[in-house]
Amino acid sequence: MFLADYHTHTRYSHGIGSVMDNAMVAKEKNLREIAVTDHGFSHITYGIRRKDLANLRRDCIEASEVSGVKVLMGIEANINSLGTDLKPDDFRAFDIILAGYHKFAMPGRFSDFFNFTIPSALDTILKVKPSDRVDKLMTRAVVKAITTTPIDILTHISYGIHVDVGEVAKACRDYGTCIELNGKRICLNRDEFETILSSGVRLVVNSDAHSPDKVGDFSRGEEYLSQYSSEIMERVVNYEGVATDLRWYGRRDI
Ligand SMILES: [Zn+2]
Ligand SMILES: [Zn+2]
Repeated sequence: MFLADYHTHTRYSHGIGSVMDNAMVAKEKNLREIAVTDHGFSHITYGIRRKDLANLRRDCIEASEVSGVKVLMGIEANINSLGTDLKPDDFRAFDIILAGYHKFAMPGRFSDFFNFTIPSALDTILKVKPSDRVDKLMTRAVVKAITTTPIDILTHISYGIHVDVGEVAKACRDYGTCIELNGKRICLNRDEFETILSSGVRLVVNSDAHSPDKVGDFSRGEEYLSQYSSEIMERVVNYEGVATDLRWYGRRDI
């Protein structure tokens, strides 16, 4: 049984429900904890605005009190060649930090436009896969993000632009970042997933719900893991009986 869903969206970015809506569905599904992780500031169309953070905090406190589910205030930061779109001063605003590459995020440097934005758009529109050079640059960007931002969870690895999962998994393991099995997309072949497993990194299964009814929907990740023996669940930090000592989680007030 999963106890927490650490990746959900609301109307503060690309979701359609409120923080309270997500919390009430989590309560119905007997979750102990959820994180509201709206898209990071540099997302062109849906990024949460810094001026909304105080309201988001207020909503998380209220939803926790009403639902009895612990509602963490998080963010799904955008990865770029500089690391992420979070500044060190932002870290303490959040209880939990997720990060992933998104096609519609502002470039960190001007060159990201040519290295990431155009290749991922060509892939989406014309199904032209990004080159090995682009994959290497993205691998470097993801590792830089992990080493410069206290990321609890790397979301949808290899979505948009493929990465060297072995290199990324080692960085995640060394820095205490979990690799997510995402409820909307899992962009890993079996060899890659076995490489991830052999690194010793920990895993998390999330919904990436953009509507309240999807909160606590772990079916895609569960199905993916069902190919393996049940011991694999000991690596999954939001599964019953497994310690949730995530990297940034709960450190906000230190
Ligand atoms: Zn995402
Ligand atoms: Zn998301």
